[in-house]
Amino acid sequence: MRNAHAKRPNGLDDLRFDNRFVRELPADSNPVNRRRQVYGACYSRVDPTPVKAPRLVAFSPDMADRLGLSDKTCQSDRFAQVVTGNRLLPDMQPFAMCYGGHQFGHWAGQLGDGRAINLGEVLNPSGERWVLQLKGAGPTPYSRTADGLAVLRSSIREFLCSEAMFHLGVPTTRALSLTLTGEEVERDMFYDGHPKLEPGAVVCRVAPSFIRFGNFQILTARGDMDLLKRLVDYTIRTDFPELGEPGPATYVSWFETVCRRTAEMIIHWMRVGFVHGVMNTDNMSILGLTIDYGPYGWLENFDPGWTPNTTDAGGRRYRFAHQPGIAQWNLAQLANAIYPLINQAEPLEAALAAYAEQYQTGWQTMMANKLGLVAFEKEMDQGLIDELLAILAAAETDMTIFFRRLARLDADQLTAAAATAEAIPNELMAAYYVPDQLTAELRGRTGNWFKTYAARIRRAGIPQKERRRRMDAVNPNYVLRNYLAQLAIDKAETGDFSMVHELLALLRRPYDEQPDKDVYAARRPDWARHRPGCSMLSCSS
Ligand code: AMP
Ligand code: MG
Repeated sequence: MRNAHAKRPNGLDDLRFDNRFVRELPADSNPVNRRRQVYGACYSRVDPTPVKAPRLVAFSPDMADRLGLSDKTCQSDRFAQVVTGNRLLPDMQPFAMCYGGHQFGHWAGQLGDGRAINLGEVLNPSGERWVLQLKGAGPTPYSRTADGLAVLRSSIREFLCSEAMFHLGVPTTRALSLTLTGEEVERDMFYDGHPKLEPGAVVCRVAPSFIRFGNFQILTARGDMDLLKRLVDYTIRTDFPELGEPGPATYVSWFETVCRRTAEMIIHWMRVGFVHGVMNTDNMSILGLTIDYGPYGWLENFDPGWTPNTTDAGGRRYRFAHQPGIAQWNLAQLANAIYPLINQAEPLEAALAAYAEQYQTGWQTMMANKLGLVAFEKEMDQGLIDELLAILAAAETDMTIFFRRLARLDADQLTAAAATAEAIPNELMAAYYVPDQLTAELRGRTGNWFKTYAARIRRAGIPQKERRRRMDAVNPNYVLRNYLAQLAIDKAETGDFSMVHELLALLRRPYDEQPDKDVYAARRPDWARHRPGCSMLSCSS
């Protein structure tokens, strides 16, 4: 409807393609789609595998609009055929990218798009470049021992979370559509010898670029410096044109930019309570976008040590609080990969140090903002924030609810509550999972924190209404709680997609109060505490 009113072209045939990646970078010379090591190339040409019965489950009207596609186009049969890979548009040139990566701290060699196939690069009506990529559209030369497919449950998780993150203001790849293939896919969800047939699905992902740290790493690892330079130059010219013509100085400023964007992305994750779960270097976008939604999760009770990924349960390498440090480690691997183009360690080391600095100051400002403060004042706020994080972790406290509700209480209400034996205002009790954990000591400690915080906001002098507005703009009311995604999956597996649609609509306005949807802002119910999919996820997808 929106597009019809605007009277601009909005069908699939109106998409304008400009496939720069395949035009400018070398392709694998072997056209056969067989699993192998691919040398001297950035990608292999490969067609999606046709599927039996494409059926649209959901599409993102926001992303469609951005591409210049009308809702009607997205509801057409032809659209479903295209976004499952059954039909190609005339100017599409499908390919899978070659990349490597460090998985859980160890170099894993060639990985690549094992089940992602890029269809082409769309130039939208505003001149933005958007790459369309199908996830789960069949095997590629990079599929190694796996099948190139994806199942409905993980595709729902990727589809919903990509769009939720976008509306939360977190840099992310996007999702245009979620389709069923009409075929079944076998998965052993917990790798325990109990394989099951699950519905196959495809997500059409969209991003300005899907290049990862690992695209550069694989070339350096193989000593292919000419191609490394070509890919870096290509990336700078295409995605970082503001940095100027490629050359050693530009390489350094490019790396500094990647460090800065990565820091910004992680600060957002920490703000909304997102845990990626698999921060391998092949899952790090060169644009600083959240990419590859696998066994990710959302903090419910604030637990800095939590990881949603069962594969990570041993070392908990990718736990919430570890994400900033892991991102820096990953950036160091990228620095190693591009070092041969610069031949100087100091500027790269300086950029990595600057990352730590930027992360720290950015995080402090973000935390101050979550508390309704305009700026972080070290003297007062360092202690205030440290103590808050300690209190939140001391009893199981829902991070999202706590910050959201805190905004409703003014300094007087906080001080009054702190003066009582309970110490915690009723308004905030909704955030506590196990009220019995609130010992007299912890209540006293929390009350003291309220007193200090009340004094701090009085001193800041921001009127309550304004303070609440500021806090509500950075503390979401709705996030894709792990159990909500799982409920939508349970329903979808019975053929009822209503909750997928409902969550997609809900999460378009995560900072708004949506009174008829209050139930989605509530604490995780107790049944979900230990249920697979709700509290723990495997990489099987
Ligand atoms: P991930 O850790 O999920 O990002 O995946 C790591 C690597 O495994 C990437 O190269 C993926 O393309 C590949 N991969 C994951 N699942 C599959 C699958 N079902 N079929 C083929 N390749 C896969
Ligand atoms: Mg990946």
